[in-house]
Amino acid sequence: MMNPKGGEIIKLPLDVLKTIDTIESAGYQAWAVGGCVRDSLLGKVPKDYDIASSCPPFEIIRLFPRCINTGEAYGTVTVLMPSMPIEVTVFRSESGYSDSRHPDRVVPANSIETDLSRRDFTVNAMAWHPQRGLCDPYGGQSDLKHRIVRAVGDPRARFSEDALRIIRCLRFASVLDFDIEQATLEAASSLAPTLRYISAERINSELRRLLTGFRPELAGLIVKSGGLAHFGIDCMTQPELLRQIPAAKTLRLAAFLYLSNIRSAECARSALNLLRTDHRTIKEVTLLLESIKIPLPEDIVSLKHSFRTIPPDKWGGLLTLSEVLSGEKTDRVRELLPQTEGHPWNRSMLAVNGNDMASLGYRQKDTGRILDILLDMVLRDPNLNRREELLRIALEIKPAQNDSPDDSVKK
Ligand code: ATP
Ligand code: MG
Repeated sequence: MMNPKGGEIIKLPLDVLKTIDTIESAGYQAWAVGGCVRDSLLGKVPKDYDIASSCPPFEIIRLFPRCINTGEAYGTVTVLMPSMPIEVTVFRSESGYSDSRHPDRVVPANSIETDLSRRDFTVNAMAWHPQRGLCDPYGGQSDLKHRIVRAVGDPRARFSEDALRIIRCLRFASVLDFDIEQATLEAASSLAPTLRYISAERINSELRRLLTGFRPELAGLIVKSGGLAHFGIDCMTQPELLRQIPAAKTLRLAAFLYLSNIRSAECARSALNLLRTDHRTIKEVTLLLESIKIPLPEDIVSLKHSFRTIPPDKWGGLLTLSEVLSGEKTDRVRELLPQTEGHPWNRSMLAVNGNDMASLGYRQKDTGRILDILLDMVLRDPNLNRREELLRIALEIKPAQNDSPDDSVKK
């Protein structure tokens, strides 16, 4: 299939082509739009496909038997095609954003050009049609080529309409590894404090993507311009260090908080709670922040001891954090870590269990303690972790229990 205007050609998946065709056969226009066009032109596989169409939602529902009325107020219907769900949104323009957040009115529009004019950035404001080719009224293709994020129209006006676009701007620059056009950047910085009108969940999701992108240091810009002050995050030093941290969510988030001078588990928990972060992430990030403060183990036994709080798979990340953020020397632990491979370090890795202890005559309340004693020995000498050996040791220790039944195996 050729682009009638020459230049790039986008190959849409069959189900997207079918959807466009079905809508157009009913007498409407339909275009692939937004992120899928941007990513296709960048040579990436889009993660989903959106369609903008002149067809009103009630007609889409009639044309496609399997669909969900996802965003009635915004004219969006999700069409469930066999290979993927596709969001079909009616052409629209928006007017009046009195709260920096929601358009006061969503106005249906009659052309793809008008629909593209309400989109946030030029690289997101392109549409593709299998016969009509690329529709690019704002120079998105040129900005893609020069790797620039630029607001559609006047950046101050666009960010004033919807403050979420401020952090989206930085997120796209980070994820795509693009620069931000000067006026867009200035508007983003000066309007950053209006991010307080945006829900914590949405900021969190954009922040996460910004931090895990190619330019995580841009998070410093949003902090310094007061965009996250309402979460208690209001200063930051050396944001460029974030680049040296592997692009994993918890690691980058821990480093981000650390560089924002939020270093205690308590302060981190409070900021992350305000940001509506999930419990698991909060737990992992606070553990990392607490662990950075503790001196690194110097021998293999204390390293294995620490596995109960910081499991082996978390050590690589922790060491990088310690190196980058507090200039810690980590060579010794890096040398020791592979030596712990296959060594037991928790109770459930022992060759004996609670039932074995019961059959030796240990009372239930003493089982935990004897297993800990055995574990301590095994941490020192992994070769002891054989069933017969551990049963023998447990038996040897046991007489002490008979001597003082209420205070058994304490020693
Ligand atoms: P990705 O899904 O990879 O994050 P995307 O470009 O698809 O990127 P979405 O958030 O899924 O981003 O939005 C789809 C499209 O809707 C965008 O490409 C953009 O054209 C438009 N859009 C989304 N949010 C806004 C917004 N706040 N203001 C203006 N346009 C927006
Ligand atoms: Mg998308």
